[in-house]
Order: sequence, then C-alpha cells, then structure tokens
Amino acid sequence: MLTGTDILMSAYNECFDREKAVRVSAELLRDTGVAFFPLDIEQLFGSFRRQVSLKPYSSCKESSFDPLTLSKDGFCTRFQDLLTDFGTGPVNRNKWMIYYNDESLDARYRFTIMHEMGHVLLGHHQLLNMDTLKGAEDDPEYRAADTQADQFCINALAPAPAVYRLLKEHGFSCSAKTGGTWKLTNTQAPFLRNLGKEPDAGQLVMTSFGLSQAAARRRLSELRDELEIWKGLDPELYKQIEGIAHRAGWYCWVCHTRRRTTSPYCPGCGNGWDYEYKDYGRLSRPVMGLRENGQFAFCSVCGNTEYTEDAAYCPVCGAPVINECENAYHTDGDFVRSGMLVIRGTHRCRPTDIYCGTCGVLTAFGAQHGPRKNMWLPGNKSERCRTQGTSYPSVLPSADSRNLKCPSCSQTYAPNDRYCRVCGKPTLLYNEGILPDYSETETFKALRRAEADIMKPHSIQLMIGSDGTITILNQQAR
Ligand SMILES: [Zn+2]
Ligand SMILES: [Zn+2]
Ligand SMILES: [Zn+2]
Ligand SMILES: [Zn+2]
Ligand SMILES: [Zn+2]
Repeated sequence: MLTGTDILMSAYNECFDREKAVRVSAELLRDTGVAFFPLDIEQLFGSFRRQVSLKPYSSCKESSFDPLTLSKDGFCTRFQDLLTDFGTGPVNRNKWMIYYNDESLDARYRFTIMHEMGHVLLGHHQLLNMDTLKGAEDDPEYRAADTQADQFCINALAPAPAVYRLLKEHGFSCSAKTGGTWKLTNTQAPFLRNLGKEPDAGQLVMTSFGLSQAAARRRLSELRDELEIWKGLDPELYKQIEGIAHRAGWYCWVCHTRRRTTSPYCPGCGNGWDYEYKDYGRLSRPVMGLRENGQFAFCSVCGNTEYTEDAAYCPVCGAPVINECENAYHTDGDFVRSGMLVIRGTHRCRPTDIYCGTCGVLTAFGAQHGPRKNMWLPGNKSERCRTQGTSYPSVLPSADSRNLKCPSCSQTYAPNDRYCRVCGKPTLLYNEGILPDYSETETFKALRRAEADIMKPHSIQLMIGSDGTITILNQQAR
C-alpha cells in the first residue's frame, strides 16, 4: 500500500528524475557547441553571459556579506524579472548569480559551478520557489533537487558516452566478471599499442574530464546505469556527445609530442618506449590533406599552395612538401616512386614530424629544421604547422627570361622562387635580398590573422527561460 510519503516521493521523482538531468546536460553540450574535454567553463558561460554571472568568494572580501556563512562550496541566487538586453531590445528575464569558493582546487569548484548551473537549467528555483538555493538538508524536495543537480553536473562535465568511449579504447570493461568495477580486460585494445605502461581507469577519467578523484570514482561507479539512460536519448545527440574530442592524451615522456597509436617511434624525438597521460591545454594538430601525388595540400610552414608537381620543397620557405625519412629512398616494395612523384609509402610522415614513426630516423623536415625538443609544448609558439593555405604574389615579373639555375643542383627555377623546389637550398635572388622572407610579407600576416579567427571559439548566445529551458538566440558563423 502506498503511504502518504510514498505518493509525495513519487511526485518528487517526476520533477527531479535522472533522465531529465541527463537529457538537459546533453542538450547543454550540444547547444553551446562544446568541442573538447575537459569542459571549458569560461567559454560555456560566455553563451549565458547576459543572464548568469559567476562570482568567486574572493571577490566578496570587501563587502560585509560572507558567502561562507551560506555554503562551504557555493550557491546560486535568482533575480526575477529583470530587463535584459539580448541585442534586440530589453526583455523581461530572470538572472542568476553563481557564487563559488575559488579557494578550493580547480576540479572541485568546476564541479560546484556546474552543480549550481544544474539548479538553473533544471528550473529548481521555480520548482522550489526559492530565490537562493543553499543547503536545506531536512527538506526532502530540496535534497531531491540537489541530487538531480549532481547528476546533471557529472554528465555535463563527463558525459557517460564520452567516458565509455575513452575506457573502451583503452581496453576497460565492466561486468559481473570484473566484479562490477571497470578493469582492463582487452590487452589488444588500440590505445594500448606502444604505450609502455598500463593505464589506470580513475586517472584517465580525472585527467580527461578535469574531475576530482572523488568525482571520477563516482563517475565510474554510476557509468553503467547512466549509459542506459543516455541510450534512450536521440541517437544523433548520443553520437555527437560521444565523439567530442579530448585535449588530454598520451604524450612522449622524453619530448612531450602526442603519441600516434600507429607508430612505434615518437615523431618528435625518435624514441618510443614510455608515454604519460596528460592535458597540456590544447588539442592535437589537425591532419593536413594530401594531393593526389602525395604532396601536402599546402606548405606546413608558410602555407603556400603554389608549387609544381615535381616539387619536393616549398619554393617560398624551403620546407619539404613531402616529408619522408631517408629510408624511403633505400627501401624497396612499400612505395612507388616515379621521378619526384611519391605515389605511396610507409615512410611518408606528417608535415612537421622530425623522426619517422616507422623506423625512428630523421625525416626531411627534421633534417631541415634540426631535431629540436618540446616543440609542441604550450608557450612554445611554433609556426611550423599551418591550418590553411594561401598564395604568395610574385615580386618580380614572371616573364623574366633570365635562365636561373640552382647553384647546388643546377635545376632551373622561376624568378620568384626563394628556395629550390628540388633540393630546398636558397636561391640566388633570395640570398641577395631581392625577394623578401615569407614571414615579412603581408600575405603571411593575413594568413595568421585568418587562422587565429578560425581557432577562436564561436559564440552562441542562449536565453534561459524561468523554468530553465534554453532557447538559441544566434549562432555567429565561424
Ligand atoms: Zn545544490
Ligand atoms: Zn618523443
Ligand atoms: Zn613554405
Ligand atoms: Zn622511415
Ligand atoms: Zn637545387
């Protein structure tokens, strides 16, 4: 028989169910255009900047109000019916202020902020009819709301499908056989190749999603149940969230280059026996497209797109437009060469690889630029890999009939070539200073500006209704 309390509890469960927490977290990640984990909290709140403000406890020091008297970690206050301008004139909307204790560790206050955001987007201020949500532990309705905000928070920071994919790639599974915990069961998993040491599930989840140890443990223990709820959502949405990229990855412990699962040798230093799982604060570089003959779609250093089919080096900056190791010239069978045209080859490396991933020896690019270490570390502003191509205008009249020959390989070259396309050595006109260096041209500066624009996160403006529902206002084109 149902008691009065049971009926009340089921009413709570309807308002505060887990399914809603999961769905709202998924929709948030989709609508704000989250591109990678760990979640960029600052960028996310940029989408709500007209309605939700973040206020660290440290900024309250001057005032007579001490937020610590309300909560150790944080809380959220609603301001009703304020005039807010979304760019189309003022409208009546709620605003929210999220207070958080910024003296805690990063992982902890990230959790606090997203928990409070859960209260906002799940409409708890309206449901509970409270302007300030702070601990009211003796109130069952409040407790149910708090649990739901936690469920939202953990799925927004570390959505079950994304966590599951990460674990699967590393050979983890969870079943009755493993005692209901996540254990390494597939030693043939793709990510385990060339890894050196076995990964730890908790550490992977902590680093990948920016969680505290406690939150990561909780994520793992609730993962199977929550995955079931996710499977009930729109399959498109599931796939989109599952596929969100990771900033964290396995990096060579010698030179910190991101590991490539297919290469036994590190492309940055030529070693390859131990990797560490790290978040260096940026994504791996985009893979550059190839032309039909195997040349890069554009030069990895200066972005130049204008070179002939027989070019091995970029005529503007001298960087190789086919990057392969010296063994490519001596190995038979695994590639086909026709004149300078490389058709295919296992020793062909990515544009800025210093060492060959197949055999560990210096590549053409490495020979050109020298085996430098830590070139991909943050703060090391490497200009070696472009994301876009451009074309450099001629400086000299192209009809110049002088027969220009490379002093090193006696190949003829065009008057505007700064480097020989066959041997990569500087040309006479460049050496004499008649042709300016590519990095000083307006074309290169424009290319850098265009690339910076692309990298900038696009800002999507969202409006939150009083019940927490989100409306997309505008999506600035990239
Ligand atoms: Zn709460
Ligand atoms: Zn390395
Ligand atoms: Zn170039
Ligand atoms: Zn090689
Ligand atoms: Zn030459």
